[in-house]
Amino acid sequence: MSSRIPLVAGNWKMNFDHLEATYFVQKLAWLLRDAHFDFSRCEVALMPAFTALRSVQVLVEADNLKIRYGAQSVSVTSQGAFTGDVSADMISRLGCSYVIVGHSERRKYHPEDDANIVDQVRAVLAAGMQPILCVGESFEERRQGIELEFAVGQVRDVTRDLSDEDTAKLIVAYEPVWAIGTGMVATPDSAQEAAHAIRSSIREQFGSSVARTMRILYGGSVTSRNASQLIEGADVDGFLVGGASLKVDEYAKICRLA
Ligand code: PGA
Repeated sequence: MSSRIPLVAGNWKMNFDHLEATYFVQKLAWLLRDAHFDFSRCEVALMPAFTALRSVQVLVEADNLKIRYGAQSVSVTSQGAFTGDVSADMISRLGCSYVIVGHSERRKYHPEDDANIVDQVRAVLAAGMQPILCVGESFEERRQGIELEFAVGQVRDVTRDLSDEDTAKLIVAYEPVWAIGTGMVATPDSAQEAAHAIRSSIREQFGSSVARTMRILYGGSVTSRNASQLIEGADVDGFLVGGASLKVDEYAKICRLA
């Protein structure tokens, strides 16, 4: 058991309009209140589409909810002629705590390379929010037995030029690509092994204090059936949840298990 506060973040991807999002947040708040959920022992966050962020903000502020929220990506530029982009400042003004950066779906469907991901991380930090940096190997790297080097390398590519202070604010989500949306979850041992390898590499680069502070999540087919075993890993500090974050009862259950 570590001193880091676990985080459960629901990545809604391209699901839920602002009305559905409002309904979900109300129901989640109600379920957690009913279960006497202790937000000082576990942070709960939701990552809606851009179009729902303002509605979530209004509800969270009006009802004084402890649920946090964030965006799923961010532009690397701060303003100007970038059609379709949303800046970190715009996101931060909506009261967001987090922004997902480098999710494998963004790496695959958008031209997000390592340099762009580094710039997104910097933009999020400069706007006072925490990046949730997604890393993780594909099936091919796992087959070759290089999954740990691969995930550690992805983290190093981003942290190479970051300060100690910024690195401590970074949240890493280890999400093996083969586990995302497939129902094939990593074993608790392999999730722990990857989180441990990432933390050890951060310790080498930045020292023990940064390594002790940084939260490392697991993502990829997390459900209420596997959450309690996965969280037992000493270096696993919570979850990035996709599919199971779309069912409010299931998501509330995962929050309670974390
Ligand atoms: P999943 O998605 O839980 O549906 O596997 C996780 C993610 O993409 O963050």
